[in-house]
Amino acid sequence: MTGRPPGRGRPPGGDGARAAPAARRAAPGPSSRAGSPTAGCAVRARGARPVAAGCFRGGLCPPGFPGGVARLGLMGGAFNPVHLGHLRAAEEMAARYSLDSVCFMPTALPPHKGARELAPFADRLKMVELAISGRPGFCASDLERRLPGPSYTVNTLAALKGALPVGAALLFLVGFDSFQKVGLWKSWRELFTLASFAVNIRPGARRASSGSRPRLEGILKSLFGSDPVWDPDAEAFLVEGCLPVHFFEGSRLSISSTDLRSRLASGESVRYLVPDAVMDYLAGKRLYAGGPGAPASAG
Ligand code: ATP
Ligand code: MG
Repeated sequence: MTGRPPGRGRPPGGDGARAAPAARRAAPGPSSRAGSPTAGCAVRARGARPVAAGCFRGGLCPPGFPGGVARLGLMGGAFNPVHLGHLRAAEEMAARYSLDSVCFMPTALPPHKGARELAPFADRLKMVELAISGRPGFCASDLERRLPGPSYTVNTLAALKGALPVGAALLFLVGFDSFQKVGLWKSWRELFTLASFAVNIRPGARRASSGSRPRLEGILKSLFGSDPVWDPDAEAFLVEGCLPVHFFEGSRLSISSTDLRSRLASGESVRYLVPDAVMDYLAGKRLYAGGPGAPASAG
């Protein structure tokens, strides 16, 4: 593991929110709901700056969503299905960026993925809920299902940003593979004003010394037409008019949903690649069992 030790120094990635104590532990907040799959969401970290009471504004608060969040990480993806690579990345980035909460948000209607290869939204959300169950500060959100139209990230981030308490920091946690395509996303420039990116290097990418960081720099240069400035303290690239783009190197677990789907299609075990509860759910519903790319059962 080459990731930075948790909680070292000032938490980067803020967009005005005061830095929260790095080594704190989250504690159940007043609205914590025992037994709910999202009970771990109702969290305010001890020592966090008090922000607006209650939850998100505008009725966008998903069930169990945290109140008083000063630093929120958004982990978006198809989660088709969720796996330990997602969870470990979120765990490490939550520590690195002193996040009060990480919100796992399955895409409802991803514009780029054919619906045919996607398990039903309800199954993907359920598996995320099972995967994060018992981990305070992690939560699952169905926000993208409740937003109209295709799941464009810009709409999601704008909705979240508008609903977060004033002064809260929003970090978009994204793998390098996804970030490479950001220039193709709808209203991509706006994304950089709505959230700080934290770009996580995935297996297959080259080590920082031999290329991942320069590649990230190159992507930013080609997007914005100017050289980004490297901030060594924040370990982030700075671009005029944008929130910082952080470079993160974690454990790089070599797990992907594509590989899981193919294992499931051929009847192979996925034990120790997904949480046990997710493995049981997959088996119980025979999800992805009908062959690669086959439609999953909704029942
Ligand atoms: P698929 O193979 O179907 O594309 P995936 O494993 O890439 O699935 P996604 O749901 O597409 O999973 O990914 C959601 C987010 O998590 C993306 O930003 C992706 O880069 C990141 N991610 C996925 N797997 C890992 C991993 N093993 N380590 C770190 N980040 C990951
Ligand atoms: Mg992917």
